[in-house]
Amino acid sequence: MSDGEDVKPDTRLVQGGRRKAWTSGIVNPPVWRASTILFDDVEAMREAGIGRVGTLHYGRSGTPTQWALAEALTELEPGAAGTRLFPSGVAAISIALMAVLRPGDELLMVDSAYAPTRAFCDGVLARQGVTTRYYDPLIGANIADLIGDKTRAIFLESPGSLTFEVQDVPAICAVARERGVATLLDNTWATPLLFPAIAAGVDLTILSCTKYIVGHSDVMLGSVTANEGHWKALEQTSRAFGQHVSPDDAWLATRGLRTMGVRLRQHEASGLKVARWLAEQPQVARVLHPALPGCPGHDHWTRDFRGASGLFSFVLNGGDEAARARLIDGLQHFGIGYSWGGFESLALPVDPAKLRTATSHEQEGPMVRLHIGLEDVDDLIADLARGLAGYGTAA
Ligand SMILES: *Cc1c(COP(=O)(O)O)cnc(C)c1O
Repeated sequence: MSDGEDVKPDTRLVQGGRRKAWTSGIVNPPVWRASTILFDDVEAMREAGIGRVGTLHYGRSGTPTQWALAEALTELEPGAAGTRLFPSGVAAISIALMAVLRPGDELLMVDSAYAPTRAFCDGVLARQGVTTRYYDPLIGANIADLIGDKTRAIFLESPGSLTFEVQDVPAICAVARERGVATLLDNTWATPLLFPAIAAGVDLTILSCTKYIVGHSDVMLGSVTANEGHWKALEQTSRAFGQHVSPDDAWLATRGLRTMGVRLRQHEASGLKVARWLAEQPQVARVLHPALPGCPGHDHWTRDFRGASGLFSFVLNGGDEAARARLIDGLQHFGIGYSWGGFESLALPVDPAKLRTATSHEQEGPMVRLHIGLEDVDDLIADLARGLAGYGTAA
């Protein structure tokens, strides 16, 4: 492992977490399964303490398999103090929120948040006496007007789920820091490679590693990376809730992480080619891709991001749900299923208007979300061309 300041992200992806002291030089940290760990004597057991990274203590505190992944993720975020792993992205989001909120607090939540994030706020947090107020994803520095005495945290997701509004993350974080309010970002779309969140002023950055970190559609995993000021609360809260990930899952995630740079570049190139092609089709009213000028917040993307990933939506020009279902069902190269970030392309019918409470979302027709995978992009375009040619005609 190199600790040169000038080491670039692709080099960090290859080298991160590979400590010889942990794995004796094995290149990809192997699967170390454990619950009980035996000590030489009582004194050695006492010295192992409560389970620090690098000291085997008890299975719940992890083994080199999980430590390597957590350390590699921390190294991708300049300014980060540490990373905790979780059994899913949703677990990462909920524990990160529990780490910063107390009964009586108010949370400002972006209106374009992932639906299960909203459900956690409206359900569990409401029962704990935390009030959630939803805000316009394009609010920017005007978030200052919403911050009151009880506001403890602001949750961001950029670009937003389904509709891809790019938030002014640095402006919101600057206001929050001035007012002593914690910021949390769901950075799953960009990953730290395309948007290093801690450096942009975010306190706690969250990934559904299920998506691009794992990259192969075969593991559920989440992570939260914190800056110095929020690391202790994150660590204590995740320990208290007994959060643990299996070494097999961590091993697959570390293996996926090594190739994330090259995968993301292909997802970006193919995704952009499909998005630009779609934007020119008469059956398509709009393409919501952060790198295209028509996407709300596109200027923030240009200013803050190092690239795009492979997930975006498009709005059809008229037609109904049945026509949309026929279009998706007829595609040969796009799978129909939840999640994204794997090597394969996916198409999903989405209806964001139903999820909004602070803003409204108008559409010319039904919406489809695409994940552009690693297939040949011309095959994908030909598939979509066949589908659109028949769009709107009765079955
Ligand atoms: C999928 C997803 C999550 C949840 O992650 P899981 O690993 O499926 O629990 C959170 N945020 C965003 C933006 C997602 O797309």
